[in-house]
Amino acid sequence: MQQHYLKEAVTLEIFEYICKATEELQLESYVIGGFVRDFILERGIAKDIDIVTVGSGIELAQNVASLLPNKPKVQVFKTYGTAMLRYKNMEIEFVGARKESYTPESRNPKVSVGSLQDDQNRRDFTINALAISLNKANFGLLVDPFEGMIDLENKCIRTPLDPNITYSDDPLRMLRAIRFATQLQFEIEATSLSSIGANAARIDIITKERIITELHKILEAPKPSVGFLLLESTGLLERILPELIALKGVQEIEGQKHKDNFYHTLEVVDNIARHTDDVWLRWAALLHDIGKAPTKRYHPKQGWTFHSHEFVGSKMVYKLFKRLHMPLNAKMKFVQKMVLLSSRPIVLASEVTDSAVRRLIFDAGEDVDNLMTLCEADITTKNPKKFKRYHKNFQIVREKIKEVEERDKVRNFQPPISGELIMATFNLKPCREIGQIKEAIKEAILDGEIPNEYEASYQFMLEKGKTLGLETQV
Ligand code: ATP
Repeated sequence: MQQHYLKEAVTLEIFEYICKATEELQLESYVIGGFVRDFILERGIAKDIDIVTVGSGIELAQNVASLLPNKPKVQVFKTYGTAMLRYKNMEIEFVGARKESYTPESRNPKVSVGSLQDDQNRRDFTINALAISLNKANFGLLVDPFEGMIDLENKCIRTPLDPNITYSDDPLRMLRAIRFATQLQFEIEATSLSSIGANAARIDIITKERIITELHKILEAPKPSVGFLLLESTGLLERILPELIALKGVQEIEGQKHKDNFYHTLEVVDNIARHTDDVWLRWAALLHDIGKAPTKRYHPKQGWTFHSHEFVGSKMVYKLFKRLHMPLNAKMKFVQKMVLLSSRPIVLASEVTDSAVRRLIFDAGEDVDNLMTLCEADITTKNPKKFKRYHKNFQIVREKIKEVEERDKVRNFQPPISGELIMATFNLKPCREIGQIKEAIKEAILDGEIPNEYEASYQFMLEKGKTLGLETQV
């Protein structure tokens, strides 16, 4: 077989140190996996570098650390037999070549010492099994037992061994296949794809956290719909995000149809991916219509309606995040808020009044720009005239937001009159009227009855107090 050297892939000085340590310990070492793949694809130099050695990965890491000028600390993971050190801004992981055997109930294999070939056999995809020698005798030699280079050229995701076994052994690989296909814009080989379909139910043994890591990476890709369509066609989406599957399909009654909200959602996600890298805003796009399935009704007069789907959808976001062990923090609240407000700017687009814009800025706060980005992505009409008109309308809403915000400053609304001042003015102990007055002032500002200023609000407070029968303190 012809030998192929990839010396330009191993010019980093860290590889020379690893070569030296390998020689001293009389081992065999290789750089393997994502670093090699991304180098060949010209995706840049990966910061995570995986080294496999035929011998002890821990011993090699310690030897490399002792040779490095800054003598970095070696982190040892005894249970896994791996070690990691940081050099410059790289994380270098060392592992001894191993053989793996699996049992049906777990994705954690029994591990025994193996050769480089054994270690390449256990890799998920041919493009991730490429290794480059760091041994003095053949430094830079590419070791490619499964024709991974050809797969890289053909943009093909393929498993080194029988895909049925590969996916059944570790079902996370099904999501990884789809994630790589989405990130790299590759195709999954046909037999591999049907094996994913056949093994979809095995995804249930994977922890939610790992599933979410892959979903995040799919959402972060330039065209996330590629991944979601694959998840759907293989039956994985049904098990992970059934809320999206519930949006599929077009129903027709008395000649009236609604749109397929699943494919619409995927278009919205692709649209938003062109305008933001914020993965949480992309999550909001993915979930913005999930309330439509449970709220769908047909009325002979009105046709199809989805009343309060935004409210129902925002409640579903919480349940979905909880089920998938996602953080129930400010990010979740942000997604909920975007879903809840997702139809508000659309209403505005037909009639932009100052007070409606003020209310939108008040409710959306700092996220008003993100909300507009979501609404613009939501325009998926295929009618070019309507497409242009809707975008133009939102442009007008954006300008109005800017104008109203500059004038009224309601984005981070702070009540101009405090509860303490109301209590002092009317000689009150804590009571319901204080809240009523505060609320009335806020409403008057949002409606444009009074400006968002102290003096006008003070006068308004005095009048409101009078209508409530309160007397001022003289
Ligand atoms: P990325 O950094 O984009 O996630 P990567 O390929 O470097 O890509 P890692 O998760 O860091 O991904 O894995 C490093 C290497 O380990 C992979 O290239 C692959 O060879 C192997 N690998 C990772 N996960 C699995 C798995 N579940 N089954 C088999 N091999 C795997």
